[in-house]
This record gives sequence, C-alpha cells and structure tokens, in this order.
Amino acid sequence: MASDPILQIALPGPLRVLYDYLPPENTPHNPAVGCRYQIPFGRSSRIGILMAINAKTDVPPDRLKRALRQIDTQPLLGSSDLRLLHWAANYYQHPLGDVIFHALPVTLRKQSNRSGSRQNGVRLTALGNTVNPESLRQAPKQLALIRALSQTSEGMERTILMQRLQISQAVIRVLLEKGWIERCQIPESPHPVTSYSNEIDLNSEQREAVDRVYRQLGGFRPFLLHGVTGSGKTEVYLRLIETVVGRGQQALLLVPEIGLTPQLLQRFQKSMGTGVGVLHSALADGERERVWQTLRRGQRPILIGTRSAVFTPMPNLGLIIVDEEHDLSYKQQEGFRYSARDLALVRGQQCGCPVILGSATPSLESLRNVTEGRYTRLSLPQRVGNARIPPLILLDIRNVHLDGGLSPALIKQLRQTLGADEQALLFLNRRGYAPMLTCHACGWLTDCPRCDARMTHHRQLRLLWCHHCGHQRREPNQCPECGSPDLRPLGQGTERVEEALQRHFPGTPLARIDRDSTSRKGALEQILSRIKAGEFPLLLGTQMLAKGHHFPDVTLVAILDVDQGLFGADFRASERMAQLVLQVAGRAGRAERPGRVLIQTRHPDHPLMQLLTKRGYEAFADEALDERRAAAFPPYSHQVLLRAESTKATDPENFLNQAIKVGRALNGNGSLEFWGPVPAPMARKAGKTRAHLLIQSAHRRPLHQWLEKWVSEITRLSEARRVRWSIDVDPQEML
Ligand code: ADP
Ligand code: ZN
Ligand code: ZN
Repeated sequence: MASDPILQIALPGPLRVLYDYLPPENTPHNPAVGCRYQIPFGRSSRIGILMAINAKTDVPPDRLKRALRQIDTQPLLGSSDLRLLHWAANYYQHPLGDVIFHALPVTLRKQSNRSGSRQNGVRLTALGNTVNPESLRQAPKQLALIRALSQTSEGMERTILMQRLQISQAVIRVLLEKGWIERCQIPESPHPVTSYSNEIDLNSEQREAVDRVYRQLGGFRPFLLHGVTGSGKTEVYLRLIETVVGRGQQALLLVPEIGLTPQLLQRFQKSMGTGVGVLHSALADGERERVWQTLRRGQRPILIGTRSAVFTPMPNLGLIIVDEEHDLSYKQQEGFRYSARDLALVRGQQCGCPVILGSATPSLESLRNVTEGRYTRLSLPQRVGNARIPPLILLDIRNVHLDGGLSPALIKQLRQTLGADEQALLFLNRRGYAPMLTCHACGWLTDCPRCDARMTHHRQLRLLWCHHCGHQRREPNQCPECGSPDLRPLGQGTERVEEALQRHFPGTPLARIDRDSTSRKGALEQILSRIKAGEFPLLLGTQMLAKGHHFPDVTLVAILDVDQGLFGADFRASERMAQLVLQVAGRAGRAERPGRVLIQTRHPDHPLMQLLTKRGYEAFADEALDERRAAAFPPYSHQVLLRAESTKATDPENFLNQAIKVGRALNGNGSLEFWGPVPAPMARKAGKTRAHLLIQSAHRRPLHQWLEKWVSEITRLSEARRVRWSIDVDPQEML
C-alpha cells in the first residue's frame, strides 16, 4: 500500500476541495487524469473525476479509502480541456469540481451506466467465432452477417450492417438468440464534411475579412467582426469554417440561442451536412452526449452551440467564433457565473487559434479592446447587395393618446405598409396583457406577495403571474381591498397590443411571438416558417423576434417603448437599449425594398436617442465609453459582486458587513473600492431578502489576487451559513 499512488478526485458541489483516494483494487487500468471514478462517499457512492495523481496524502491511513472502480479507460477530458476548466474555476472563483461537472453532458455525470451511447452495434461472440460457414449454406444472410463481423473484433453498427448487407432486423435477432453475436456499443462513425455547396460570391469587404483571419490561422489572434445587420457576417463565418475544416481542423461557433437561429443552422447544415454538430439545452440528454462524444473524438469537425458548448472537448480546434458577442445570454446568471464569450478568448489563447467576435452592435468592452490594440477590427459597414440600412425615425408620443400602445401616427404608417402589401414588425419586450392591474376606486395594485414587483396580467390565461418568482393566482373579478369591480390594466404587454392591432386591422393575419405563444415544443419553428412563407403581414413580438431572423419582406419596424432603457438604474442600461434598438431595426428592409424604423418615445430630445438615431451605433458607443471612463465604470475598471439572500431580513446585510470587514483587512495597499452593502434592485424576491456588495478595482490583477484570499475567508464566516451567497466576477447585471 505504501507504493500506491494517491488519486485526487473532484466532485460536483459547493466545497472547494479535492478528495484523496487509493486506486481501486485489482484495476486493469493505469490511472489517468481526466477519467471518471466511482468512489465510496459517506454511506453511498459518487462519481468523481481524477484531477491529479500524488505520492502522498494528509488523510490518515485508517480513513483513506479505495476508489471502487475506474469508469473510463481513456480520459473524458484531455489536458487542454482541464486547463481551460482550471482557469475558469480560478477566475470565477467557483469550486473546481462543480466547474468540471458543468462541462460534462448530464448522462456522464450520473451513476448509472445507461449512457447516451446506446448499444448500437453487434459483434461476434466466442461461440460465433467457431461457427462453420459450411453449416450456413441454407442461410446466406446469416452467413453474410457472420462473415462481415469476422472482419472486425470491435463489431459494427446495426444500421450500417443492415444497409450494406441488405438484411433485416430479424436476421440479427436470430443470431443474437443463437448466442453467436452480442450487442455492443460502437463509437459513432465519423461525420466528415462531404461537400461544400456554396453559390454565393463574397463581396470585397467580406473577402477582406476572410483573408485577414485566414492569414492568422494556426495562432491565437482575437478579431472583432463589426458588421451591420444584414452585412453578411454569417457568410464570412461559413467560408472560414470551411477553410479550417479543409485543413483537417475543428471549428466552434457559439450562438446566443439555438431556437432563435434556425436559419443560421439551416445554412450550415445545408452546406456542410452532418459534419455540423449542434449542442443546446433543449436536446435530449442522450443525444447531447452522442454529439459531444463525436466532437471529443475529433469525429465531427464543426460545433454550433450555446453558452456551455464553449467547454466541449475538441482536440483539433482551429477556429472559434462568437456570434452576437454582445448578447447577455453568454453570461451564465446563476451558479457558475461564467462568460462564454470571455472563455472563448481564453480557449483560443490556450489552444492557439483565432477567435472572432461578431456583432452589429459590439459590446463596449470589445470596442475598447479594439482601441487598445488587443483585438483586430474587421468591418462590414454595408448591407449585402442593394439592401440599405433603414433610417431610424423618432415618434414623439408626449401628450399623445395611445391605443393599446399604438400612437395614431404609427397606426397610419402601418396602414400604408399593409396597403402596399409589405410586412410590418412591432416590437415590445413585455409579454402578457398588461404589466399590472389597478383598482380604479382605491388604487390597489397587483403586487406580488413574494417580490417587490407587480404581477403581470395574462388575460388569455386569466391569470396574474409574477415574472420574477413564477407566483400565479386567478385573475380577480373585483378589487380584493375595496370590492370595486372597476379593475383596469396599466401599461401594455404583447397580448394587449395584439388586441389593438386586431381591432385596427381586422382580418389581417398576425403572428405574435413571445414565450407564451411559443411555449409548445416546435411551436416557434412552425410559426417562423409560416412567417417566412409570407402568411402574416403583421408580426408582433418580444426579443424572441428581434434576434438574427431574416424576414426579407419586412419593411416597417416599430419599437413601441424604449424609454425604460434611457433611465435604467444599471449603468449598462443605455448600452443594452441601443443594442436592442439596432438589433430590432436590423429586421427592416433586408432585401430589395427599403425599410424604415419608427421608435415611439416620450424623450425624443434625450442626447443618447439623438446620437443613436442621427449618427449611429459607433458615435453612440464613443460617447457611452467617454461616460464610462469619466465614472470609472467597466471597461475602465473591474468589478466583483458578492450577492447574499435569506428568508430572514437581516441576515444578508450581517453577512455582507462581515465580508466587507474581512475584505478591507486583506486590501493591503488599498487599491480596491468597496460599495455597499446595499439592497439589491429588487430587494425582495421569491420571499427572500437580497443585498449585495460591489468591489471595484482599476486593475484586474490586484483584484484577483485579493479575491482568492477573500473567498476562502468568507467561506469560513459563521454568518455565511445563514445566507445563500455567490460571487459574480465581471457582473453584467446587478439584479
Ligand atoms: P448578417 O449575419 O451580417 O446579418 P447574413 O450573413 O445573414 O448577414 O446575410 C444576409 C443575407 O445576405 C443572407 O440571405 C445571405 O445569404 C446573403 N448574402 C451574404 N453575403 C452575400 C453575398 N456576398 N452576395 C449575395 N448575398 C449574400
Ligand atoms: Zn379597490
Ligand atoms: Zn414574485
């Protein structure tokens, strides 16, 4: 036993430790970092991943246990994958075991061996190997099957056998019953890219962008592809990915949400077939593992995926692209709070390949990285072909009576558009009928009993529904306070706009797209394809409708309410507003007919609105960056947010006060600033009181050196046990 190596094993969970074990008894395999082990844990057993092999341990010999078995013979995660995960755990100060398990498909995290890779193949048994071919003269199909299987000891996929030998399931079943063959698992066969079908000639700007990245293949180099909506960014991605795959390498394309990019997927699949693997949260677990395995084994060259796809092992990675890099969905907002965009850059640096961040409205962080010379900018300033960027027109709605959110001027423009047989798209980022109901007699409001928020009125569902905690109750017939039946909606959601549109344009087919109207599986795809087929002159929706879609016949886009974005409490509010406006505006006039964009606002003179509509995103971004610099906000500083919540109102603040005390003591040269503790913007949510503490630093390095020590100290605070707390490095929202 003295010579036994010590296995250091990571387990998922909140504890920031690795666990020491002895190797399993009589194991035929050499321990390898990145393999899974089943280990005894308490009264049961768990699955862990081997992170390191050591000579010694501090665990006393009588408490040191043996692992039960080594599950994988080959590492599931290679050294470069683990390097990225180590980096992420350290940077985001999240427990390593949790980070590692986050990177694995669910099927591989569990005890059971019913993994996603079904027993898809058969192979000869020892008995089958002794069968005399002569004896099968009367059964040519069985003979053919035996012959084929005798060529390989690993077996073959059933579907391939049936196809090649022109045999049926029945033949396989007969031999299984005879015990001549047995089921086995065959690694999925490779999915090479078979053909490239691409008829589009790149324009000169696209070609320039492709060439400049092309020249950097084989080494790390970050690019910002800043191309207006409809400028052909996707085509640039396609060409570069083809090139990389042609060199025998793999390419990773991250997208914000798969459901919202069916057209992008179709384009890739059409041109590169099953060489394109897709990973996103709506996949069945087994399917996800199968795709993951083919990428890990290098059997598939291309992965298109959402946030967590950034961790997928790809041994020959040659290019990473992050589409819509400014999108908030790249930041995980709970648990392991990483930014997939930022990790994509780290991964590119670690494996030595170019990383392209693409957007029509780049984040201020990325724009600053360009001016600092860290990223190379590639520009596509014009739309492809004859399409023009649509003008942005402000509609002043001060003192204007709105009908279901629509101003008379807007209704007139809609009438014109529909009269010309063109399509109009209306955008309102709020689902439901109205954000609240009020009693006209006493002023009662539909407050959520569990949150500092109002419950949204969903008229079709006859519900009041809190969008923050999920709390629901039946729509009241009368005021619970004074009994008055005079309850009225305040403000509007998409349902109410839909109702107004149907009143003004009876008989005009309308498609409403929000989470309520597309909650059924497949509903979104269905409605999108009907829109594409031109069935709906009127489109109405939340941001589900704003992103990525290419609706060639839309000429009029109307944004019903932008004003929240101008005065949001968050210093990022105006950036988000500008990105969303341009994203939505980008749906107009994408083909032959020119488009226009109407923006309803009560603040038409607001300087940011003026800048954005008159001079465009870049001018807006310059101004916004100046403001950030003056206020020393990111990207001119770095932030960490410590959040705490508890059902007991005073606990979060007590904890944060202790945390700040410890943090100040560790802040040797005083380079960090502490803001708070303050109540969270929504101080009560789902029955819990929430508060946070913001730490800011002009430089990243001292912040991170301090952070590591701080986290290990606050973990030990007795106050920490009374709250749920979390660390958010580079927070994107203060919520
Ligand atoms: P973006 O991703 O920048 O919004 P897309 O790549 O989706 O733009 O391009 C918009 C449309 O223009 C697509 O239908 C695409 O097929 C087409 N397109 C792109 N590049 C070219 C080109 N060079 N010539 C003709 N059509 C193009
Ligand atoms: Zn009342
Ligand atoms: Zn609520």
